[in-house]
Amino acid sequence: MPPRRVIGIDAGGTKLLGGVVDQGLVVHHRVHRIWRGSDRAETLDIFVEAVEEVRAAAPDVTAVGFGIPALVEWETGVSRWSTHLPLEDVRFRDVMSERLGLPVVVDNDANAALLAEARFGAARDVSHAVLVALGTGIGSGLLLDGKLYRGARGFGSEIGHMVVDLHGPECQGACPGRGCMEVLASGSRIGRDGIDAALAQPDSALGRRAAAGRDITGGIVTELAHQGDPVAREVLAEVGRRLGYGLVGVVNVFNPELVLLGGGALAAGDMLIDPAREIVAERALPPMRDLVAIMPAHFGAEAGMLGAALLAFDLIA
Ligand SMILES: [Zn+2]
Repeated sequence: MPPRRVIGIDAGGTKLLGGVVDQGLVVHHRVHRIWRGSDRAETLDIFVEAVEEVRAAAPDVTAVGFGIPALVEWETGVSRWSTHLPLEDVRFRDVMSERLGLPVVVDNDANAALLAEARFGAARDVSHAVLVALGTGIGSGLLLDGKLYRGARGFGSEIGHMVVDLHGPECQGACPGRGCMEVLASGSRIGRDGIDAALAQPDSALGRRAAAGRDITGGIVTELAHQGDPVAREVLAEVGRRLGYGLVGVVNVFNPELVLLGGGALAAGDMLIDPAREIVAERALPPMRDLVAIMPAHFGAEAGMLGAALLAFDLIA
């Protein structure tokens, strides 16, 4: 009998990645979508289209798992709120199951990513780990005593919305907060700080690019930093330090063995991670700060998709 296969869909604040995944975690067909700032109906249509696209290549799939950037009520599969997508009070699990005619499970995207890391990735040998995904926003998951921790109703572990600057800027998307870690240390922040740095330092590689009327994004800042531009490197270092201040609180509260960093911003590698490590080493409480390793997630950009597939396998087991 061929191995069973499911579909895993990982939706972030900017894009969707999905695939057909077998029990050996091999991905057979992939699908990509970029959110278009659509309304709720169109957003749900995009989820359905993405599933149908890969399902056409693998009609044998038996379930679908979704990781979505939203506060998901775990028991009911209802999406109660989202900073980045129009998914407030959506019966996501039931709507998708009805439209697709397949069993469906849904969780927060970062929870799904952490599940993949905990079972088969960088956190497979630890019981206490935190995953922080730096993308459009900051997604996060907590592994406590070997289990995913979701809070009372499933909404918990939104580390990105811890306040790290009392008088900081308004947070992103629909968050009512100010000075949240997300607005100060997400991937999109690298792009915004890159624009400011380009204007302030017109002689830098970043400044010359802006003067030529070309886009400055987080990806561009990272590329120029890899090429050695000191201004771009300082943008990454400052975002990394802010990330570190947020992690000080996380390390002090949870005493994790491991902090895994994921998301698109991790293309910056140690230029972003080392400054965060330095702040934790300097500011978190001993001995916790000496017991925690801060490192990139093993599955990179595929962690959420693989975790969503694992949730689907759990559902039909
Ligand atoms: Zn916030």
